Amino acid sequence: MPKDQLTICPRCGSDACYEQELGTEYTIHQCYGCGFTTNTLMTSDSEFLEEQLEVLPELYKDLIFQDKKGYHWMPSAINNPKQGMVFADGKNIKEWKWSAIKALPISETEKTNFPIPGKEEEYYEYKMDMKSLKKFSERDFMDALDYIGAFDTPKEQEPVIGIGSSGSYPSESSEK
Ligand SMILES: [Zn+2]
Repeated sequence: MPKDQLTICPRCGSDACYEQELGTEYTIHQCYGCGFTTNTLMTSDSEFLEEQLEVLPELYKDLIFQDKKGYHWMPSAINNPKQGMVFADGKNIKEWKWSAIKALPISETEKTNFPIPGKEEEYYEYKMDMKSLKKFSERDFMDALDYIGAFDTPKEQEPVIGIGSSGSYPSESSEK
């Protein structure tokens, strides 16, 4: 049984830092106050962190925050194909915001324009609607998630937190 709890975020001090234990040695921290995330593998000199650093956008690397325990926190990157995306975007660490983009269902008539690579006669059901792009300031991470509908997620389709974490959102029915 995974153990979930709310803790204080060492980065922003918010008490909306969601901690999820996914194994004896693996815990994910997702702060809903500032939108940053880390896990027990993201320590200095870890292989996991090194791999992340190779693929991370510059802004993400620059925004990395190391807490007292040595965990490296970075902005979340939410990519749920059926709902949308939320990711940190901007010129530099002083000028960045959360970008939220909603997913839009692809109609029957246009679906042939969106084939799934490597598959025959299979098409995407949703596309990212660039017109829906909306920016949110750092402390409005929750609003950005709400904007793409991340909190109305049915249980079976948990959103995917891409970079730095494979965690899920707090489930509504968790024991208090
Ligand atoms: Zn925080």
